[in-house]
Amino acid sequence: ATPTAVMVATGIGANHGVLVKGGDALERAQNVNYVVFDKTGTLTQGKAVVTTAKVFSGMDLGDFLTLVASAEASSEHPLAKAVLDYAFHFHFFGKLPSSKDGMQQRKEQILSQWLLEAEDFSAVPGKGVRCLINEKKVLIGNRALMSENRVSIPPEAESFLVDLEMNAKTGILVAYDSSFVGLMGIADPLKREAAVVVEGLKKMGIHPVMLTGDNWRTAQAVAKEVGIEDVRAEVMPAGKADVVRSLQKDGSIVAMVGDGINDSPALAAADVGMAIGGGTDIAIEAADYVLVRNNLEDVITAIDLSRKTFNRIR
Ligand code: ADP
Ligand code: MG
Repeated sequence: ATPTAVMVATGIGANHGVLVKGGDALERAQNVNYVVFDKTGTLTQGKAVVTTAKVFSGMDLGDFLTLVASAEASSEHPLAKAVLDYAFHFHFFGKLPSSKDGMQQRKEQILSQWLLEAEDFSAVPGKGVRCLINEKKVLIGNRALMSENRVSIPPEAESFLVDLEMNAKTGILVAYDSSFVGLMGIADPLKREAAVVVEGLKKMGIHPVMLTGDNWRTAQAVAKEVGIEDVRAEVMPAGKADVVRSLQKDGSIVAMVGDGINDSPALAAADVGMAIGGGTDIAIEAADYVLVRNNLEDVITAIDLSRKTFNRIR
């Protein structure tokens, strides 16, 4: 293609909210064999909502929610926000001023008074969070986090968890002072266009893959809903780029679509990295394309644009 054709295509893309950083990326997209999708925030809306909270020890449910919210208050993970919202509604539903103006300020004020102090907070990438509350260790996250801290999950909690996961929910496990306390189930609905886009890619001869740090059962359930057969689950943040590289081994051209900090190495490793607009700045920096509208249809728009720009002139 001539420089003019590339410039025209770049402009057409921009008008559709598909920003491409340079002619090379525009050219590579036409030959994509694989599109690898991150799950949370990419295939799903990233608007997680708590659907269940259940205590499996003697702890009062209100105290349980306070504990969890106090620990998650320092986390930036989408799951953390869902947990805080749920705890807030549990404690304060109906007790808020009706005026919308004062609402947010009041909410923050109430929260800060009511949360317990969490010390030594740290995020455990791909697993959850940890901190100290009342000088006792609090762990919140997945099975891997529990097992590496030798917290055993009682059988009735395990079967409750399996049930959640088979229904496409993510389970959040909670331990206090080295003992399992309870769990929460979190739902994150698919984006409306996700299944149609997956179908469209298949029709174009492109192989869709789901890549996630979430557990196998949840990942499989979500993949089934969206029509993806090739699933890579329980992948630690550092492993996502390795998955991309393994797909490239036979010379395949791989596109990666993601939104999070943990996706940026994979976005950089891919032949075509596509960051979801509104995603993390680091992801946007690592990518070749930015899909400004946060609409997965633009994955197809980007590939189509490349095919049309380069096939015609060859
Ligand atoms: P994804 O690849 O789907 O974006 P992540 O790598 O961010 O997932 O997280 C993987 C898993 O780690 C989550 O599904 C969750 O079980 C656990 N996790 C991560 N952060 C948190 C948190 N702040 N609170 C609870 N669990 C968490
Ligand atoms: Mg994500």
